[in-house]
Amino acid sequence: MTDDQLLARAVAHIPGGVNSPVRAFNSVGGSPFFVASGSGAEIVDSEGNRYLDYVQSWGASILGHANPAIVDAVQRAAADGTSFGAPTAREVELAEAICARVSSVEKVRLVSSGTEAAMTAIRLARGATGRPAIIKFAGCYHGHLDSMLVAAGSGVATLGIPGSAGVTPGAVADTVVVPYNDIPALDAAFMAHDVAAVIVEPIAANMGVVLPEVGFLDYLRARTTGAGALLIFDEVITGFRLGVGGAQVRFGITPDLSIFGKVVGGGLPLAAVGGSAAVMDHLAPLGPVYQAGTLSGNPLATAAGLAALAQLDQSAYDILEARAGRFCAGLVSVFAEAGLDAQVIHAGTLAGWFFSPTPVTNYEAAQQADHDRYARFFHGMLDRGVFFAPSGYETTFVSLAHRDADIDRTLDLAREVAVELA
Ligand SMILES: *Cc1c(COP(=O)(O)O)cnc(C)c1O
Repeated sequence: MTDDQLLARAVAHIPGGVNSPVRAFNSVGGSPFFVASGSGAEIVDSEGNRYLDYVQSWGASILGHANPAIVDAVQRAAADGTSFGAPTAREVELAEAICARVSSVEKVRLVSSGTEAAMTAIRLARGATGRPAIIKFAGCYHGHLDSMLVAAGSGVATLGIPGSAGVTPGAVADTVVVPYNDIPALDAAFMAHDVAAVIVEPIAANMGVVLPEVGFLDYLRARTTGAGALLIFDEVITGFRLGVGGAQVRFGITPDLSIFGKVVGGGLPLAAVGGSAAVMDHLAPLGPVYQAGTLSGNPLATAAGLAALAQLDQSAYDILEARAGRFCAGLVSVFAEAGLDAQVIHAGTLAGWFFSPTPVTNYEAAQQADHDRYARFFHGMLDRGVFFAPSGYETTFVSLAHRDADIDRTLDLAREVAVELA
């Protein structure tokens, strides 16, 4: 079965042929390949073509594909039953593992997707404070819950739709959107609204990678505390990726609530919302804020998450950070040698770039970058067997399975493509 044959069958019965929109390649053109298997840094499509993979399930596969310890843990767990709807020991172990790593998290609730975690955190913030308004930043993505589909990044940015059809004005009436890194606009939002919480990606990674300016996150912490509002860190990408304790430990900031996804599930559907016991105890069954899930704390997903976290110690992050640094430093010279205006962002273990002559500090600037050039770069690399995100509004994920030789090969190929683009 070729990729084109699979796509023809897919579009007949799946809208757009995909189960998540960015997979459709709309922003870069062309049609997607279908993955048959993956191992380490590499994936193989249905026609047997091999790609060096920098998408890595959008960061979920930090250890690379088919990590042996995760595969083994999932196989063993599956043999004992895949779901019970009753408590299991591994849920306790994973909750302990998360709390041990992230000091702001005293209690945690496991869910099945980052979207659910964001939804729960927002309901919890409103329930705990008794206030309505949530401040979010333009270009930050918090999943596809209605109230956060305003000026969202990721697929919403890729598709160029302002929010989404089907979201009523009522659903977003209590969402206040402020530009990332814009303190005066944040102050104005606090003056005008009864704020329950500010939700932020501590490093924005769904409008491309955009760093918080020095002092921005500290200001968020001080301003929310001063107003009696909660600070929610969306660490769905940064959690267990930027380091053992995620972005909050790296930046030395203690949020009231944190949400995690991607890495924490080891490549299976699992996410989490956590925070101080005082806030978390507002959740049912202890408190009045309702939240539930048939598959929450799923036996396979908790087994995978535990197997992933067990391999992610400080030395793993040091290796990953060095590899991301090697990639970014190489890319800076590749683009400079070709005479292409580019901003390469090395954020610890995260990497990204914009084809832009000036630094990108917010969503507006991210939209002004040259996304046509990104599309041509993407296809040049794909033709050479390297798979980057099929959109310039995403992040490049180096995994622990990428060797220095893989990075160097990528850079050699990028040099060829950059020369073609110049
Ligand atoms: C991926 C992502 C989400 C949503 O997670 P899903 O599991 O796709 O629902 C939320 N926030 C951030 C920062 C993300 O990158």
